[in-house]
Amino acid sequence: MPKTHWKKLHNPNYFGCWCFEEGMDMVLTIRHVTQEPVKDENGRQEQCMVIHFAEPGAKPLICNKTNAKMLEKLCGSAYIEDWAGTKIQLYADHNVRFGKERVDGVRIRPRVTLSGPAPILCTDCGKAISGGEFGGKAYTAAQIAGINQKRYGVPLCAECSAKRKEEADHDADA
Ligand SMILES: [Zn+2]
Repeated sequence: MPKTHWKKLHNPNYFGCWCFEEGMDMVLTIRHVTQEPVKDENGRQEQCMVIHFAEPGAKPLICNKTNAKMLEKLCGSAYIEDWAGTKIQLYADHNVRFGKERVDGVRIRPRVTLSGPAPILCTDCGKAISGGEFGGKAYTAAQIAGINQKRYGVPLCAECSAKRKEEADHDADA
């Protein structure tokens, strides 16, 4: 069994590297930036800069200094109020320095190069919903999101939809 480094444990309430499809960037729109208390893995609270996104289902991103400096450059302003409405392209960097070690981190690209429709994000896990084949039928990401929107009132990925179904079936048994 591979062991789990504590730094790899993620806070599911916030945007993280697990939100990406392997090797894929994601473009999201900043709704607003706040300073708010964030609990770390030891339950300690710390004031952090947090970016909230306009796209439904997108988890807020805890903004570190590197990303804040990139945003200042991208937006041409050091004031967080001026960052609202900006589209940013995010990627998972597997080589972020954390003291002497390298860990995964979310980074902002210097410019937006991706075009096309915005990703549809899963409300439960925050990942971009991807298409797939179910019961021998191919579904697009939009179709999967739509089906779950009807069923659960929120867009969900296939995995989280299956989880909710399992929970609902379990509740029905009880
Ligand atoms: Zn999900």
